[in-house]
Amino acid sequence: MKAGFVSIFGRPNAGKSTLLNALMGEKLAIVSPKVQTTRHRIKGIITEPGYQIIFSDTPGIIEPRYKLHEKMMSAVKTAVDDADVALLLVGADENPEEADAIFSSLRLGVPSLLLINKIDRLSADRLQELRDFFGQKKYVKEIVPISALNRTGLEALLAAIVGLLPEGEPFFEDDDLSDLPTKFFVSEMIREKIFHLFKDEIPYHTTVLVNEFKEKTSLVKIRADIIVQRETQKGILLGEGGKMIRRLGTEARKDIEAFLQQKIFLELFVKVRPKWRDNDNMLKEYGYH
Ligand code: GDP
Ligand code: MG
Repeated sequence: MKAGFVSIFGRPNAGKSTLLNALMGEKLAIVSPKVQTTRHRIKGIITEPGYQIIFSDTPGIIEPRYKLHEKMMSAVKTAVDDADVALLLVGADENPEEADAIFSSLRLGVPSLLLINKIDRLSADRLQELRDFFGQKKYVKEIVPISALNRTGLEALLAAIVGLLPEGEPFFEDDDLSDLPTKFFVSEMIREKIFHLFKDEIPYHTTVLVNEFKEKTSLVKIRADIIVQRETQKGILLGEGGKMIRRLGTEARKDIEAFLQQKIFLELFVKVRPKWRDNDNMLKEYGYH
């Protein structure tokens, strides 16, 4: 039996969340074309005869500008220390020199696979160039071309990971899909809808806190606060006569019901908490430990 922890690294938009979702076959990490949607470490677990892999998606690697960003980067460092195998993900559209600078700076002490993602958008020549470039890097054990979106190359990827995993007994029960509480996934699904429905700074100045999750006989009752920094942002989230918040609620409810495989009753409240992104206590309350 082999078992171990695998962390996925890459710059914002490299496709980390898409890859994790493709591997897990369930919508665990939220995906969005905008950067910085993943703030937490998200774990998914695959258990097969012969191996168990525990995946952790990391926030994209960025310069810390706010306290929130510092916490995101410390999550990246924790993921480095915890990993048995590192997956270094580089999007086909990225600058390879910049990606190399970041991967080198992680000073990985664990074997790493270099994944070239988005090969559905890549010519054979360009792929060979990237192979040649990363093939010379000392921190790369093996190069695996994939398309997370089209789910190509995933079999080869799993085989390469298992090859590098340490021997050991599984850490989790077979049917634990993830060790994160359902409440967290629910808040992430609401946050994903905010990314889809609102522009500019709104998604980045918003967080979601699920404060009630009650399983009743016929449905699950969920109450969540959407936290914003300013009254004007609250106005935008509510929309004219509450139009936007209703739309947000409807869209989020559909996803949450599909995820829980159960009917839900979703209540959303918008609350103003000035400067929540710079306040340690508030960050703690909102789940950024
Ligand atoms: P993350 O920031 O690294 O977690 O990146 P995401 O998983 O959120 O993906 C960023 C964007 O790249 C999304 O629009 C994805 O649909 C897109 N994407 C991810 N993987 C692929 C791929 O293999 N091919 C293509 N064409 N797009 C991809
Ligand atoms: Mg992500």
